[in-house]
Amino acid sequence: MTISPPSGVGAGPAALTDEELQNFVASPLAGCAGTTLDPDEWFPIAAKPARARAEAARALAVCAACLVRAECLELSLRTWSGAGQHGIWGGLVEADRSSLRQEWLRGATTVGVTSGASVPEELVAGVLGKLAALGFGDVEEVEAVKERMTFQLPRELRK
Ligand code: SF4
Repeated sequence: MTISPPSGVGAGPAALTDEELQNFVASPLAGCAGTTLDPDEWFPIAAKPARARAEAARALAVCAACLVRAECLELSLRTWSGAGQHGIWGGLVEADRSSLRQEWLRGATTVGVTSGASVPEELVAGVLGKLAALGFGDVEEVEAVKERMTFQLPRELRK
C-alpha cells in the first residue's frame, strides 16, 4: 500500500492553512485513524488535567506515536471556539491545550516550555511554532537537568 502525504508536508504546522491541517489529521498518517478504541476514550470527563490524562491514557498512548501530532495540536488551537476545544487533540487533554491559548500569554514577556527525552521533536517544534506566531519567537535553550536516559531494545530483539 502506498500512502501519499497530504499537501504541505515539510512545512511547519503554523505555516499551514486550516484545510491543510485538516488533511493531515484526517489522513492515514493520524494514529487515531482506524483505531479500535471506544470513542469515549477520546473524551475524558474530568476537568482536572491529571485525572483527565488518566481517563484518556489509552488514547494519549495512540497520540504519542502519531505522525501528525503537531498538526493536530495546531488545528485544535485554531478551532478552539468549535470542535478544537473538546476531547483529545495533539496528545493533550483540553486543560493542557487551554494553557497554550493566546489569552494565557497576554501580558507575558517570557514563556517557559519544558520537554524531555521522550517528547517527539515534532511536538516541541509545533509548540515553539505556535509561540512564535504569538510573538515569542526568540528561543533560548536551557538545560535544566542533564538527561542520561537510554532506551533499550525489547528483550526479544536483543537475543
Ligand atoms: S495527535 Fe492524537 S488525536 Fe491527533 S491525529 Fe494524532 S492520534 Fe489523532
